[in-house]
Amino acid sequence: MAAGDASGAQVSLFRTVGQALMCPGLGWSTLSEAIKAQRSRTGIESSVILVDDFFPLSKVQGLVAGTKSDVWISIPTKQEPKTDQIDALMAKLKLSLDGPPCAVVGIGGGTTMDTAKAVSNLFTNQGSAEDFQGWDLLDSPGVHKIAVPTISGTGAEASRTCVMTNTASGLKLGMNSHFTFFDEVILDSTLSESVPNDQYFYTGMDTYMHGFESLNGSHRNPLSDALSQESLQLVREVFTSADPKSAVNREKLMTASFLGGTAIAGTYVGLVHPVSAALSVVFGIHHGVGNCIAMRAMQEFYPQEYAEFWSFADSQNVTVPKLDGLTWDSETLQRLTAATLLHERPLTNALGLDFRSILTSTKIEEIFRQM
Ligand code: NAD
Ligand code: ZN
Repeated sequence: MAAGDASGAQVSLFRTVGQALMCPGLGWSTLSEAIKAQRSRTGIESSVILVDDFFPLSKVQGLVAGTKSDVWISIPTKQEPKTDQIDALMAKLKLSLDGPPCAVVGIGGGTTMDTAKAVSNLFTNQGSAEDFQGWDLLDSPGVHKIAVPTISGTGAEASRTCVMTNTASGLKLGMNSHFTFFDEVILDSTLSESVPNDQYFYTGMDTYMHGFESLNGSHRNPLSDALSQESLQLVREVFTSADPKSAVNREKLMTASFLGGTAIAGTYVGLVHPVSAALSVVFGIHHGVGNCIAMRAMQEFYPQEYAEFWSFADSQNVTVPKLDGLTWDSETLQRLTAATLLHERPLTNALGLDFRSILTSTKIEEIFRQM
């Protein structure tokens, strides 16, 4: 049934918060309607639909009403987005299309949603992905962006960035811009039912980190504080529950992720994220699990949250991997240090302007050795 035809009991399934629509069980039909509306608004037939590789493309194609001119791409999630991969994808898309599509859709987790945001911006801003890594470097709004998250926690559906790793420069940084927000977010919590338990925890915890890092920072504002507090409350309800993946809890976590992403759009993260970004750049460790590994070294900086985090992991029976076995030669430690210290804004938010006097190379080495 199409979302536009929703009537009776199903109407109550829709709840809107700004550009976001909460519609459990109706994600595919709602997406079909959103693309159709955008097609008629712009007069452009084709849309670009990026789908997390967990979902077979043919299956999703059968669920979303499209046209023959839509371009469907399965997005690999083994690695998180890289600037050169985004450029290669753009080159392919530009060859398949006569001009910008009516919409770019990202169906999946942070990897797929961030790829969709970057692709949308690169249709209308001349340059390669790395040219826009930073703050407010985009000149024009991208193509209409639609998000359909299928796993909750990154807040990528609500944030003003799309994180990409630049392997050459060692920079893990997104296109932070008002033009990076999604125009429409379709929140269907039934889509996260299939997420494996550990991944559900690792990605879910990302929103916990966003909340507490923002509330413990100096760059505060009442709006972000309120959103972060509510997001944290929901995360606590989910991960102290006996069944964190129940229908109600999946809806709560999807809400928490959206609120956390909105909160972080107005503030910054803290120390966990730069450390996790370094693990990602140097060892290729994924964001959610990287944040959890980084928590091994956070007792000194966030004592209450450290205790709470490990109580969640214990009660949920989730194993957080250790870095044992990875090489700790001086070159690796130097790379980890450099990749951490690149993140000046979150580090200033967490530790003040003279964060370098706290995070000396000896201290950073000590931090990584605790993991
Ligand atoms: P992900 O998108 O890499 O997905 C993790 C795994 O879950 C993948 O294997 C994927 O196939 C699988 N998956 C997704 N949905 C599923 C489902 N319904 N059922 C079964 N499996 C499913 O992971 P993530 O944690 O969502 O995103 C991480 C990325 O997000 C990183 O690149 C990170 O840098 C980025 N990020 C972005 C922001 C932002 O504001 N833009 C914030 C935080 C993190
Ligand atoms: Zn994060």
